[in-house]
Amino acid sequence: MSADHREQQPNPQGSRIDPHVGRYARRAQGMVASEVRALFAVASRPEVVSLAGGMPNVAALPLDQIGELVKDVVSEEGAAALQYGSAQGDPVLREQICDYMTLEGITASPDDVIVTVGSQQALDLITRVFVDPDDIVLCEAPTYVTAINTFAAFQADIQHVGMDERGVIPEELERSLTEAARAGRTVKFFYTIPNFQNPAGITMSAERRARVMEICERHDVLVVEDNPYGLLRYEGDPEPTLFSQGSGNVIYLGSLSKTLSPGLRIGWALAPAAVRAKLVLAAESAMLSHSTFNQLVVRRYLNTFPWQEQIKVFNTMYSERRDAMLTALTAMMPDGCTWTRPEGGFFVWATLPEGIDAKAMLPRAVAERVAYVPGTGFYADERGRANMRLSFCYPTPEQIREGVRRLVGAIEGEVDL
Ligand code: PMP
Repeated sequence: MSADHREQQPNPQGSRIDPHVGRYARRAQGMVASEVRALFAVASRPEVVSLAGGMPNVAALPLDQIGELVKDVVSEEGAAALQYGSAQGDPVLREQICDYMTLEGITASPDDVIVTVGSQQALDLITRVFVDPDDIVLCEAPTYVTAINTFAAFQADIQHVGMDERGVIPEELERSLTEAARAGRTVKFFYTIPNFQNPAGITMSAERRARVMEICERHDVLVVEDNPYGLLRYEGDPEPTLFSQGSGNVIYLGSLSKTLSPGLRIGWALAPAAVRAKLVLAAESAMLSHSTFNQLVVRRYLNTFPWQEQIKVFNTMYSERRDAMLTALTAMMPDGCTWTRPEGGFFVWATLPEGIDAKAMLPRAVAERVAYVPGTGFYADERGRANMRLSFCYPTPEQIREGVRRLVGAIEGEVDL
């Protein structure tokens, strides 16, 4: 990063010049606010239809009942809830997480689970434990923006592997691994989001999953399977997890952020015993112990609440919103635009006609009162200019239709130039 660029980052006191600029560790120099974060300020203005953020619609939760449950935690288990806990996480919650994972076809022991502050912390701990500067981390093209930021924070060499509508392309994965081996480089892991991928909305087919596992096992490469959206499926049958096909070379990440609430920050990693032990040590130095309070709230929720019914409520709502978006895109998008058709999750990935730059178009879109995330944020390199991520999780179907109408206005404005 150039010195000019660094000096333009405002410091917390509001001055344009950061007096600490020379002090930061090398790994902190690359830490800059993501495009998604910068967008939130604009997208949260009431007149703007935000197709940008990936916020779950927590208004669909029975807040009164959750309030009662929180009160019961304090009155019945307050002494434990307000005390330190272990860095591996509450043992009863880890058992419940194993029950939850059976819905994904995973059989696991609570000993192999570590509770994390969302699956985001699991990504951080895994990178902390495995990645030295310049180690290669392979990920899909495009991939989850905050995973890129985490890998970059540990100075990984982030390399993308192409995807098509059936997920990651095995030949490209094979080529990346072979080239790295030939160059004597270390690939620390392959990071993948096989279900309703963020941002592409793509689900990896069963055949691809088998091939990916065969390739990674042959090259002796660890797989990090990130699956926060797996239970949010609106059509079709679930595909088998990579974890269930692996032989100890998969770290599986789960989260309750999308199926319960992101505010509670409950995620987890399921890892081979030796890796799990390292992750617990890393978690200890990162945060000493998890929030016992939040864990006991979630423990009680999973124990006393018909949470599988709640997931169905979410799925009914999100599937209506997905349908509203796909129908509006089909009816209104100009010729030359294409988009994915997610079977679940939160995101559609759109590609604009040749010559239109989604990032450059954003100010025009905001003037039209619609926001999206430009595709460039989802690549560690220069790709993604023709792309945008459109989320359908938060706005109502009516707002989605209006948002797409405004988006089309912005695209047509670019074409008319
Ligand atoms: N992985 C993916 C693919 C995500 O989309 C998200 C949230 N947007 C996360 C991980 C992190 O989620 P959390 O930390 O809330 O579990």
